Amino acid sequence: MKTKKFETICVRGGYSPKTGEPVVPPIVASTTYRYETTEQVHELFDLSAQGYFYSRIENPTNTVVEKRVASLEGGVGAVLTSSGQAATFFAIINIAGAGDHIVAARSIYGGSVNLIQHRLSRLGISCTFIDNDSTQAQIEAAVEPNTKLIFGEVLSNPTLKVLDIATWANAAHNKNIPLIIDNTFPTPYFCRPFEFGADIVTHSATKYLDGHALQVSGIIVDSGNFNWAKAYEETGKFAEVVLPDSTYKNISYTQKFGNMAYIVKARVQLMRDIGATCSPFGAFLLQNGIQTLALRMKQHYINAFRVANFLELHDKVENVNFPALKNNKYYNVACKYLPDGCSGVLSFEVKGGRDAAGRVINALKLV
Ligand code: PLP
Repeated sequence: MKTKKFETICVRGGYSPKTGEPVVPPIVASTTYRYETTEQVHELFDLSAQGYFYSRIENPTNTVVEKRVASLEGGVGAVLTSSGQAATFFAIINIAGAGDHIVAARSIYGGSVNLIQHRLSRLGISCTFIDNDSTQAQIEAAVEPNTKLIFGEVLSNPTLKVLDIATWANAAHNKNIPLIIDNTFPTPYFCRPFEFGADIVTHSATKYLDGHALQVSGIIVDSGNFNWAKAYEETGKFAEVVLPDSTYKNISYTQKFGNMAYIVKARVQLMRDIGATCSPFGAFLLQNGIQTLALRMKQHYINAFRVANFLELHDKVENVNFPALKNNKYYNVACKYLPDGCSGVLSFEVKGGRDAAGRVINALKLV
């Protein structure tokens, strides 16, 4: 069959009703699922069989969104979480623990900075923040023997710096570690980071994926491309992805789940032990929102572009952060990674500092 277009996946991805089944994915509001025998449930618990048994781990409505977003990003699988923060947290702790270190771009969402700098540090995971514009050599120089991953945002919140994804991915791969990237602002409509070498993508699905400010959620998507077994062999890192997990009858995620090892591990360990699952009601709203993602992103970008142009010419505006503007520092990088547009988000500085900025915000009639 012909590959489905992005717009079609937005509407149909992750759900193929059979004859007589509802066209709209139902909200499966059930915590548990019925089985005939204890053996059947045992098999599910042990991961020797696949199926739903408890909605904290997996739920059919959530599955629709997970498959849909994985498909839009070009990944092999995804896990929906209760928030974008939970997605970032889980994406990191799935492969990093006490005594480990990570490298992150300095300009990223403030909530991610708090999580990494103030929360993960208390759990024993340290971080070196480096400039978003670092060269490959500078990124590699920040990697230490215990570094487990590199983290950045395609478009940084709120300064709209464009990350040179291929450079960051090359640096990560030279050091045998994955690049995890937050794709919240562009969404897969404008950028598919896996095509440039990123290994894992996260989203605050609260934003554009939902699109209607109805629910809070996040998602982690796995490209399936990072070779955990090879990295383990060469560096001894990622033993927990490769070696037997005693809490699941000694299965090895890489051996049993192949290129889905990371994302299966995130689900069956982190959802089991920590939770932070998305409710099926939230997932239902999300699948509805995603149906119009392509249309909305196109229009958001056109609107933002007009506002950015207006602001750039305004004599009371100091500068505008929007990489689609020709004068923007990131224009050329944006042409590579965001050729059809970047986002509906822009930021700008007004002359006169904080007080003047406050007056502008207070005077806005429609935000
Ligand atoms: N990542 C980015 C880029 C964000 O802007 C946000 C929230 O603003 C988050 C992650 C966190 O997402 P959530 O608010 O859904 O927890």
